[in-house]
Amino acid sequence: MKKTDGYFGDFGGRYSPEILTPALEELEKIYNQLRGNKKFHKKLKYYLKNYAGRPSPITYAENLSRVWGSNIWLKREDLNHTGAHKINNTIGQALLTLEMGKKRIIAETGAGQHGVATATVGAMFGLKTVIYMGNEDLRRQELNAIRMRMLGAEVIGVSSGTMTLKDATSEAMRDWALNVDSTHYIVGSSIGPHPFPTIVRDFQRVIGTEAKKQFLKRTSALPDAVVACVGGGSNAIGIFYGFLNHKSVKLYGVEAGGRGDGPGEHSATITFGKPGYLHGTKTLLIQDSEGQILPPHSISAGLDYPGVGPEHAYFSETGRVKYFKESDSEALGAFQEVCRLEGIIPALESSHALSYAKKLAKKFGPERHILVNLSGRGDKDVAEANRLIGEMK
Ligand SMILES: *Cc1c(COP(=O)(O)O)cnc(C)c1O
Repeated sequence: MKKTDGYFGDFGGRYSPEILTPALEELEKIYNQLRGNKKFHKKLKYYLKNYAGRPSPITYAENLSRVWGSNIWLKREDLNHTGAHKINNTIGQALLTLEMGKKRIIAETGAGQHGVATATVGAMFGLKTVIYMGNEDLRRQELNAIRMRMLGAEVIGVSSGTMTLKDATSEAMRDWALNVDSTHYIVGSSIGPHPFPTIVRDFQRVIGTEAKKQFLKRTSALPDAVVACVGGGSNAIGIFYGFLNHKSVKLYGVEAGGRGDGPGEHSATITFGKPGYLHGTKTLLIQDSEGQILPPHSISAGLDYPGVGPEHAYFSETGRVKYFKESDSEALGAFQEVCRLEGIIPALESSHALSYAKKLAKKFGPERHILVNLSGRGDKDVAEANRLIGEMK
């Protein structure tokens, strides 16, 4: 493989078991044919509009702007079908599956959000769907497992390792290696071996393309800053791409600071990570001095991943995007404020971005504009948030 294929600076590439190479090469080839294909894009646009409900609006948050001190705008990915940005990617990859003539899709899921978005397109496009989920996650997120089964997917519990997302991902890769001819693996974030980080980013770019157009229309200018939460990094990379070439727009990625800076207390991969290899890519990882991956922690299960998309690792190196972390309790505080002030229940993941936007607003003052990617709705989080708020009292 040429060094240029799927690299972002020194990060990215394809470091997966050899048995997956034919599948990854086939995917790369078909994607290269389709990425510039008008008919494919027309089809994609059709489903994004008529099934997922795009374009999602941008909302001027009047009350947050008054209280926080800068103009706050929200890109409303929470209003998409299934409640987050994840459907943008699963629709795109389901269409790729059909183009490859495959009839079966598999996916890994942690909290279950990507599993639900995959089961959804599996039902709609008539694809046999299998979701791998760690047994520990199955216990914690039973409702999402029920949702997936309701949508016709088979949910397989994984009992290896810590029985969470990392183990479910390994199991999905094993399935893919055995069933490559019939099956496409829908990776859920801008992670994994080349070409996945590129494919997922491209399917999420619709967020940034829309947001830029909408913002220009409403204000005749660009925002001063764009803020998004970073787990694997797909919603963030999607919105950032709309503004990357506009140097006046500052870009901020916000990681999960968890309950402290110690090992096992956070998911702040860029803040604390070192280069390493996980799930087929070279990126920043939270690991100990021996290179053992440390278990991540966050109140938001969607940010609970020990790695980060390789393109974010690259942007942190070039400095085009600045990365910060917000703690569990800071995110929970922003969550409550946005509920009460705007009548919007944000996902706990998105609440990390909101919490950082609040700090930024204080610095920026009333003349400037901050656009926050509201990556998803928090209906899934209300029970957990309620418990945590009770604990803090
Ligand atoms: C899954 C999820 C995330 C984290 O995934 P990224 O790939 O980092 O975007 C963020 N927000 C919500 C609402 C999610 O469901």
